[in-house]
Amino acid sequence: MVSLGEAVMTGLAPDGGLFMPEHIPVIPRAFFNNIGEMNIREIAYVVADLMLGDDIDSSEIQRMVNETFTFEVPLVEVHDSVYALELFHGPTHAFKDVGARFLARIIGHYGCMSDNRNVKVIVATSGDSGAAVANGFLDVPGVDVYILYPQGCLTQLQRAGLSISDSNIHPVEVLGTFDDCQRMVKEVFMDRDLCRETLLTSANSINICRLLPQMFYFFHGYASLVHSDRSNRPVVMSVPCGNLGNLTAGLLARKMGLPVDRFVIANNRNDVTAEYLRTGLFKPTRAIRTVACAMDVGNPSNMSRILDLFKGDYSEISGVLRGYSFSDMEIINAISETHFSDRYLLDPHGATAFMALKKDLGEGERGVFLATAHPSKFSKVVTMATGVKLDSMANATSVKIHHPRISASSDALKKLLVSLPGQV
Ligand SMILES: *Cc1c(COP(=O)(O)O)cnc(C)c1O
Repeated sequence: MVSLGEAVMTGLAPDGGLFMPEHIPVIPRAFFNNIGEMNIREIAYVVADLMLGDDIDSSEIQRMVNETFTFEVPLVEVHDSVYALELFHGPTHAFKDVGARFLARIIGHYGCMSDNRNVKVIVATSGDSGAAVANGFLDVPGVDVYILYPQGCLTQLQRAGLSISDSNIHPVEVLGTFDDCQRMVKEVFMDRDLCRETLLTSANSINICRLLPQMFYFFHGYASLVHSDRSNRPVVMSVPCGNLGNLTAGLLARKMGLPVDRFVIANNRNDVTAEYLRTGLFKPTRAIRTVACAMDVGNPSNMSRILDLFKGDYSEISGVLRGYSFSDMEIINAISETHFSDRYLLDPHGATAFMALKKDLGEGERGVFLATAHPSKFSKVVTMATGVKLDSMANATSVKIHHPRISASSDALKKLLVSLPGQV
C-alpha cells in the first residue's frame, strides 16, 4: 500500500498496474436527503474531504474545489425524463477540464512538498484532454507538462490549444497512434531508474487523482435531478466511453453510496467495452477513426480498475452496466433528430450517450446522460447534421504550428524527458 501522495506523484503502480483507493468511504444516507439543496462546490468538498481528508488540510481541499469549479454544470431536460448534464462550460469546453484542473492543484500541492526538482507530468491525448491539461496546469509552479499526441489526429485548433510558448507546457507529436502514445507513457513509468532521477507522473486517467474530481459531478448530477424532480423513480446514468475514466469515477461514486440504479455505457464503432458487456470477452484492438473521435480507443486503460471494483465477477458487472455502440451515421442522425424534435443541440459524444440512454431506460425510470463536449467544438459534424451555423472555434488560427516530433518508442520519449524543457 502507498500513500495518496505517492500514488498521485508516480502515476503507475510498481507492478505496472493502476492505483485504486484501498478503502472507499461510504457517505451516510442522510447526506442524500438534502443533497438537492447543495451546489456543486459544497458537494465536491464533502466528497473530496472524505477521500483526501487524511492527507490534505480541509481548507486546502476547499480551495482546490473552488478553483476547479469556476464554471457551472447545468442539468437540462432534453425530453421526458431524459436529462443532459452539461460538463462543457469550462475553459476548454470539455469535461476533462474538471479532472485536469483539480489534478493540477493536487500535483502542485505535493510538488511543493518535495525537494527542489521540478515535477514532470506526461499525458497522452487523442483530442480534448491535451488542451484541458495544458489549461489546467498552466503556470502551476514547479511543474513541467509533456503532452503527447498522435500525428495527424488533432485539428489545427486543438494543436493551437496546446501551443503556449514560453510556458511550462510542452506539446510533442508522436509518429504513431493514440494507443502507441499510451503504451509509451506506461513504458516510461516502468523505467525505475528514470523515475528515481526525475519526479515523473501522469495526467491521464491512469492517475487516480483525475478520477476523484470526476466523481463530484455524478453526485452533482444526481443532486440537480432530485432538485427538479422529487419523485423517487430509479435513476439511470449514461456515459460516453473511451478510456473508461468517467465510467470508473461513476462506479466509485456509486460505491460511496450514490443512489444510481445502473450505468449505461455508450461506444462509437470502437466497441470493445460494449462487446465485453455483451459477451464477457474483453478483446482490445486497434482504434478506428469516428466522428466521436475523443472516444476512439481500442484498449481502454481503465478496464483493469473496473474489473478490480467488481473483483472480476462478470455477472455482477453485467447487473450494473449495459453497453451499446453506434455508427457514425446513427450519431449524425441522432444529432439531427434531437435538434429538430427536442430543440437540443448534441455534440457527437453526448449523442452516443443520449441514444444509449433512450434505448435502455425503462417505464417509470429517469435518466441523466453526460454531455461531454460543447457542440461547437465539433461544428463540422453538427452543422452537417442540423444546418445550424455555429460560432466555430475552428478559425482561431492559421499560423503554422511546429511541435517537436518523435518516433513511437519509449526510448525517444525518455530522451526528450531528460533534456531540459527549454531545449525541446
Ligand atoms: C475523453 C472524452 C470522452 C471519453 O471519456 P473516458 O473517460 O476516456 O471514457 C468522451 N467524450 C469526450 C468529449 C471526451 O473528450
